Amino acid sequence: MLQSAIILVIWDKLMKRYLLYINGKETPSSSGEWIASINPYTTEPWAEIPRGNAEDANRAVEAASQAFEEGAWSQMRPTERGHLLRKVGDRIAEEAERLAKIEVQDNGKLLSEMGKQVAYLPEFYYYYGGLCDKVEGSIIPIDKPNMHNFKYYEPLGVCVAITAWNSPLLLATWKIAPALAAGNTVILKPSEHASASSLEFVKLFEEVGFPPGVVNVVTGFGSEVGAALVTHPKVAKVSFTGGEAGGRKVGELAASDFTHVTLELGGKSPNIVFPDADLQNAVKGVISGIFAATGQTCIAGSRLIVHEEIHDEFVEALIAFAKKAQLGDPLLPTTQVGPIATKDQYGKVLEYINIAKEEGATCVLGGKPGKGWFIEPTIFTDVSNTMRIAREEVFGPVLSVLKFKDEEEAVAIANDSNYGLAAGLWTQDTTRILTLPRKLKAGTVWVNTYRVVSFLSPVGGYKHSGIGRENGKDAIFSYLQTKSVWINTETEVPDPFAMRL
Ligand code: NDP
Repeated sequence: MLQSAIILVIWDKLMKRYLLYINGKETPSSSGEWIASINPYTTEPWAEIPRGNAEDANRAVEAASQAFEEGAWSQMRPTERGHLLRKVGDRIAEEAERLAKIEVQDNGKLLSEMGKQVAYLPEFYYYYGGLCDKVEGSIIPIDKPNMHNFKYYEPLGVCVAITAWNSPLLLATWKIAPALAAGNTVILKPSEHASASSLEFVKLFEEVGFPPGVVNVVTGFGSEVGAALVTHPKVAKVSFTGGEAGGRKVGELAASDFTHVTLELGGKSPNIVFPDADLQNAVKGVISGIFAATGQTCIAGSRLIVHEEIHDEFVEALIAFAKKAQLGDPLLPTTQVGPIATKDQYGKVLEYINIAKEEGATCVLGGKPGKGWFIEPTIFTDVSNTMRIAREEVFGPVLSVLKFKDEEEAVAIANDSNYGLAAGLWTQDTTRILTLPRKLKAGTVWVNTYRVVSFLSPVGGYKHSGIGRENGKDAIFSYLQTKSVWINTETEVPDPFAMRL
């Protein structure tokens, strides 16, 4: 008894405990329960985050709704809103390294990648900060001299951002920056596997002068706190990044109350290599598409579609390159492949490797678990596009190789998927470079490159990869609604029965 009490006291002292962030204050969850944050490299817990529930979701919505209605943010001069967004960008820049290290502890991605990713976040706040005062309405030229029509853009209200664990602050920023620029208030629900960085990050907003209640974070399980947020009648928009199943559920819940929704979901993206490509570059592009981030990216180029003439030599070059990948501690600059982020995900990737073997694909590299939650870079050849390994998202370092004979067949295989998030194309043929991207059913097409993203350029999916786009100028309009105002300056209202629509 005494022993377990001592253990509990030591545990409390060692374990970092985070709190929810609602209405500008750190606050415990109503349940008083905690969820362990596990470091995927050590497979040990390193922190605890609050297990928020529907009551916490309601508190956050009330705070965000009150903040919106009171107007300290939504009615603030857009130029001033822009200043504050730029200021928060500056604070994020100062804290980038600390935040990136927290993310590495939570999701096991490489510090060499997360460091750059978090250091890039300020650009989004600068960009959307700059857009705040450039959202202009218009005067519609109505064909009656005394009738005037104006188009205005107004914020939606309370926006909920639900994010996946693989790039917590980047995915949150894709939503938060344009939502705030448009004048909305926000509640972020990060993945229960990687919430710590969001709970640190949110404090920066108030530090630079954001009014309380404008940015809130509620952590916990999707089925508990996430669903309560999505179905709350005061929530105007949900922007979700996650898997297809979660996206479908959130989409259905949102539709039942006519809540606006953006869905950024998974993929099974093709990377097509033609014989005329610069093959050395193509090898690097294919490797980075599937083995960088241990394959745990929505845009992973998980289907290599390679011309039959170069299939064998290309696969050999891939094996030679991937074999040398350094697996290890994500904090070390020499590490190239980190662990799988969660135990469940680790089990899922191994299951897909077995499925691929049972389906008759040939494992030419890897296919074995390493220590802890590591999985070696794995390549399967003899894959047909009907196999599950070619159709379902694995979300791990597993590449399926398919062959094609001609351009038409390459495009047909690439497009024969329920997903349509991204596609890669490796060729030096100018006609192909100009024509093929338009034939590929994917939200992003990269030619002679892969995995490039920018705050300036839209991302989003075709088909089951989602609805809507994030980033770029247009994204701000997905957090605004349009109002049409008619003004009659005629001294006398015309005959009511003679008015036309
Ligand atoms: P999940 O769909 O499991 O979860 C995503 C988020 O949604 C989590 O915060 C989760 O909570 C929450 N959630 C789950 N179910 C519900 C629900 N019914 N109501 C409300 N919220 C819910 O995805 P993962 O976290 O496993 O992330 C991996 C997936 O994300 C992959 O499919 C990947 O392709 C996709 N992704 C897409 C990107 C894109 O831009 N298109 C970018 C990055 C990832 P919790 O898990 O805490 O319970």
